[in-house]
Amino acid sequence: MTVSEKDTQKVNLLNFDAEGLKKFCEDLGEKPFRAKQLERWIHRRGASDFSEMTDLAKSFRAKLEKVAEVRGPEIIRDKTASDGTRKWLLSVGNGNAVEMVYIPQDNRGTLCVSSQAGCAMNCLFCSTGKQGFNRNLKTSEIIGQLWHAEHTLRRDLEITDENERVISNVVMMGMGEPLQNLDAVIPSLRLMLDDNAYGLSRRRVTVSTSGLVRQIDKLGELCPVALAVSLHAPNDVLRDKIMPINRKHNIESLLEACKRYLKVAPRDFITFEYILIGGVNDSVAQAKELITLVQDVPCKFNLIPFNPFPGSGLKRSEPEAVQAFADRLNGAGIVTTVRKVRGDDIDAACGQLAGEIKDRTRLAEKRANREIIIKEISQEKEKEEHHARRNPKSGNERRE
Ligand code: SAH
Ligand code: SF4
Repeated sequence: MTVSEKDTQKVNLLNFDAEGLKKFCEDLGEKPFRAKQLERWIHRRGASDFSEMTDLAKSFRAKLEKVAEVRGPEIIRDKTASDGTRKWLLSVGNGNAVEMVYIPQDNRGTLCVSSQAGCAMNCLFCSTGKQGFNRNLKTSEIIGQLWHAEHTLRRDLEITDENERVISNVVMMGMGEPLQNLDAVIPSLRLMLDDNAYGLSRRRVTVSTSGLVRQIDKLGELCPVALAVSLHAPNDVLRDKIMPINRKHNIESLLEACKRYLKVAPRDFITFEYILIGGVNDSVAQAKELITLVQDVPCKFNLIPFNPFPGSGLKRSEPEAVQAFADRLNGAGIVTTVRKVRGDDIDAACGQLAGEIKDRTRLAEKRANREIIIKEISQEKEKEEHHARRNPKSGNERRE
């Protein structure tokens, strides 16, 4: 057996949360408290070399050396934008890569993490969706993003105190649909919250979903953290077109799931994300429809001006339309923010986390469908505008 063959058979300890590490130690005939020590070395101190772990017995270290490893993601690119935003590209094997982004702000540092290589949800406006799905990331590849970013940033900033954290917030808003990969996402979330690992507050860890209803319940049951829901349309007709998941779980069932989630959530509101796409979902009439739609769900809105990407066939809303939309929502008492574009010079803006994926889904078919849908949406808009021109009064009412 060659050395590299032997290496690949080692157990990567980044795949285990506290419970998993405990079981691993027990299986090796070690006391359960060793798991806590190991966890602190790996996650609080960023150690990957067992010889550094000096408070572990020599015999235990020797065993670990033989059977285990702490292997973080393989970084293939590392770029920092002029505003301090930093983006890493991680190899996930077979020529595929995913991205993570660190966004420094005045009093916090946010890491945007990926959960899948590609995504199967095929949302019309998303460059990840456009690439199709390759595979779920493992726990070691999800928590490995935080492990790598936190300890690299600490080293760069020369922080030696293990109690001082650079990353205070994590958002699962990178590539992929986190709720389609709960088996790996849940242990990763548990490590983010665990005091022996990253000790983040539940309110500062956010999972973003396109609306998988049953899995929202599951998340609430297993590890409730802050929830962001990508809504993006004020009615089923439009949402069916731009987010295929809506054909399975419509808006009503999604909002019901949000209300159930609020009973266990660490925050008393759901964040709705709403991309503003020029001429598709950004009219004042649509803002009004949205206000009625969410009237009995405690929520905040995060408006995201659409990030165009090659071949999207869609455009970003005009700044005036963004402002008018935000004003409507705020005017109705819904706290609404417009997401600022960060890291623009390194394509690190949200929804731009494209990575490089070899698709395993039927992409050609999806592409053809997407062109038909974009055509349909623009034809409907044309019809509406034509109607508004012929009936100026009702048109004014609709568009204000
Ligand atoms: N799959 C999850 C999380 C990843 S996407 C979800 O859909 O919620 C993270 C956010 O980026 C989502 O709100 C998504 O709708 C948004 N997004 C996707 N493509 C975008 C684009 N081109 N411009 C702006 N935001 C985009
Ligand atoms: Fe997947 Fe989210 Fe992109 Fe939709 S928006 S394709 S769910 S990553």
